[in-house]
Amino acid sequence: MAQVKLNRIVKEYEGGVQAVKGIDLDIADHEFVVLVGPSGCGKSTTLRMIAGLEEISRGEIAIGGNVVNDIPPRDRDIAMVFQNYALYPHMTVYDNMAFGLMLRKFPKEEIRRRVENAARILDIGMLLDRKPKALSGGQRQRVAMGRAIVRDPKVFLFDEPLSNLDAKLRVQMRTEIKKVHQTVKTTTIYVTHDQVEAMTLADRVVVMNHGVIEQVGPPTELYHRP
Ligand code: ADP
Ligand code: ADP
Repeated sequence: MAQVKLNRIVKEYEGGVQAVKGIDLDIADHEFVVLVGPSGCGKSTTLRMIAGLEEISRGEIAIGGNVVNDIPPRDRDIAMVFQNYALYPHMTVYDNMAFGLMLRKFPKEEIRRRVENAARILDIGMLLDRKPKALSGGQRQRVAMGRAIVRDPKVFLFDEPLSNLDAKLRVQMRTEIKKVHQTVKTTTIYVTHDQVEAMTLADRVVVMNHGVIEQVGPPTELYHRP
């Protein structure tokens, strides 16, 4: 069974822009899929529909076998990492990671166990008492990932998570993200406009253009268009 299934999904924005034009995609459990393509091709809209942040105009999305069209973001079994990190500035790193679990009424001990486990995976154990403004860009990105990991969702959604980092750090964080995926094995859908990033990270690359899927395949099998 596909962990995430997109069935003929369409997005029409007000004013008639058809940003996504009926795409089909099955994503397997543990798979790392990267949506790549030029700016405006519909990657982010697709991801946001999976997250529930954008309504679907037509078609169906299923996560873990359940149709989620009418399920609000918080009740979908997903965690999303944004390019702006979206950390709470007044909270410590620990509280930033714990917050989503507190809202969901997890017991304190379980929250501590999960935050410490995520901190170990991401090597940020020594930063737990700091506030976001006392962190580097790469460290903030790790905390944003930590917040997703502690939730232990069926699916991670990444929206251009490395765009705000300099070139060197981007390469470093790519390796980090790959390592995290090999550790937690959570099904991942990752959006980027960077082809090299797509090729390095993906089990399967989905190339989008003008709201449709142009190619799908493992990085080694994609042909290059000049
Ligand atoms: P990508 O992530 O590939 O850059 P997007 O999904 O952001 O592409 O956008 C796809 C298309 O939909 C673009 O033409 C964009 O201008 C349009 N679009 C995105 N968001 C909105 C919106 N809120 N209202 C109207 N049009 C939008
Ligand atoms: P947490 O588990 O951290 O509480 P939730 O999934 O409950 O996270 O809520 C995070 C919410 O942030 C998303 O569901 C969404 O509504 C909102 N959000 C949407 N766009 C952005 C953005 N660009 N940056 C930060 N937050 C966003």
